[in-house]
Amino acid sequence: MAQFARWLPSDMMNRMGEDRMSRGVAVLALAAVPALHLSLAACSSAPEGSHETPADLVVMNADVHTVDAAAPRAQAFAVREGRFMAVGGDAEVRALIGPETEVRDAGGATVVPGFIDGHVHFGSGTSLVRGVDLTGIPSKQEWLRIIAAKAEQLPDGAWIVGGRWDHTLEGGEFPGKQDLDAVTPANPVVLSDIDGHTSWANSLAMKIAGITNDTPDPPGGRILRDPETGEPTGIFLESGGLIGRHVPDLTERERLEARRDTLRFANSVGITMAHDMAGAATLDDYLRLLEGGELSVRIWFGTYASVDTIAGVVALRDRVAASVAEIEQFDAGGRAARSGRRVARSGESRAESGGSGRGPLLRVGYIKLLIDGVLSSRTAAMLAPYADDATETGLPRRSQEELDELVAACNAAGFPVAIHAIGDRGVRMALDAFEASQARHRLLLPNRIEHNEVVDPADLPRYAELGVLASMNPHHCITGIDKYNTARLGPERASWSFPWGKLRDAGATLVFGSDWATAPLAPLEHLYAATLREKPGGGPAGGWYPEHRLTWDEALRAYTLAPAEASGYGNELGSIEPGKWADFVIFDGALPEPLDRSMLELKVEATYVAGRPVYELANEARSAGTR
Ligand SMILES: [Zn+2]
Repeated sequence: MAQFARWLPSDMMNRMGEDRMSRGVAVLALAAVPALHLSLAACSSAPEGSHETPADLVVMNADVHTVDAAAPRAQAFAVREGRFMAVGGDAEVRALIGPETEVRDAGGATVVPGFIDGHVHFGSGTSLVRGVDLTGIPSKQEWLRIIAAKAEQLPDGAWIVGGRWDHTLEGGEFPGKQDLDAVTPANPVVLSDIDGHTSWANSLAMKIAGITNDTPDPPGGRILRDPETGEPTGIFLESGGLIGRHVPDLTERERLEARRDTLRFANSVGITMAHDMAGAATLDDYLRLLEGGELSVRIWFGTYASVDTIAGVVALRDRVAASVAEIEQFDAGGRAARSGRRVARSGESRAESGGSGRGPLLRVGYIKLLIDGVLSSRTAAMLAPYADDATETGLPRRSQEELDELVAACNAAGFPVAIHAIGDRGVRMALDAFEASQARHRLLLPNRIEHNEVVDPADLPRYAELGVLASMNPHHCITGIDKYNTARLGPERASWSFPWGKLRDAGATLVFGSDWATAPLAPLEHLYAATLREKPGGGPAGGWYPEHRLTWDEALRAYTLAPAEASGYGNELGSIEPGKWADFVIFDGALPEPLDRSMLELKVEATYVAGRPVYELANEARSAGTR
């Protein structure tokens, strides 16, 4: 019931109002009388009697952005048994240092709550983690250096996969097979481009796939060829599958390794929890990682369903919950035994050890549905035709009746629904379906719309009225600036697109996520997009439709506390507050104030989940040095 009340629209608006007010006051207080503010924060947040119990870990001399509206900034915090025990000034927190306490001096660097990626597809990014990741790198020479380094690590004949190269960042000319042949003569290579519609292969890969001058273009695709010789150049437009289907499937061991490495990669950019969307098969791998103590990102899982398969998702949710409880009980027994305590019955051990000792780790939480496509290919469902194609409005994938029925069935089964809706027609259909369902079913967690790239102004207030979350991916906005956004939409609708600021003003709760692997995974890249709204390489100065820019605090909340609340963990995760699980990120320097592009140069120095490090930059540097 408490959870339900947390996101009721009226409550949500009150909370946002309070947040903004207290933020204003706090910033003033911090500038004018820092000592007073910090000691107040410490007094109000240090639990009674905590000074007698030393901390396990203390982080000091930090620029802490807490995402706690009551005390947004601090210098230090203390952690005990996996949870924050006090947050405040260096002096107050120093009092909690005992002989066994680990003390970490952040050297003035910025510290934030662990990032919660509100929309990610870990499964589709594994080829980047296993292979090469060329995201955001403009120079072909640098791509080839990375690819050559990968080839060094692999035995001859092993495939090199991954990609996300973008030839428009420099020069605009497609690379060719000969570029790859020069650095990878013994390994077949196939690399997809930034939006996955084009692939780039070397001669060995093409030989394995049997591609010759005589291979015809597949339906809907095109093999680029030398105009004189007719020889394929190595570039496959909408036809990468000709090569890709020859890449061997991973063995089970390789697949588990790939999942573990993917989660570690997420830790390396500061992610401690994710709303991951994939097929149900992924869950068994996650359970195995959990069993081995290697699930280093908390997973709130969403999967697709139809009216006929909802019962199966309910069974899956229950099966996963039972398995997780069993693993936690086993772990708790082990901990109690190690610390010399009597192994308690499950209820007692839970109270004694605080559940898993690491907080919520894996749950099947929601159902994902699609209503339309994307703007770039004009498949997003629009209320009016595309500006650059008067015959096209994009077709919704289901009728309103079908969507209504499916949403109601999911809500009736206790699942919140996340609907992929990009065009203004898709968004309206999703809101209509939620309105109809919510009149009949009471939810424990809010329904949500994914992407919300174009929202008709008439629909902006409906998010707050219905308590529907706006789950958005800021980087998708900035990669389309000067590329296709305005061309597809025309100037009026372009001004309503990616409307973070207008949604905020209308009282909507924003949840941010990466939508990796279609955009970079690093939250900092998305926070750059959300706050500056400039292209990946910078500009236009002041931002593209700057009325939609968010403040750092607003954007950070959307990447931490808001997704924690969306998954029902708002009281346990998402901010640096006493009593919450100690998930946090230490950067290698302080965030620039005022914000500018240099924020992208910050690296994650360390990531902690439940008070334990899951990533340390220093270790990476050391192991790279000895490799
Ligand atoms: Zn997605």
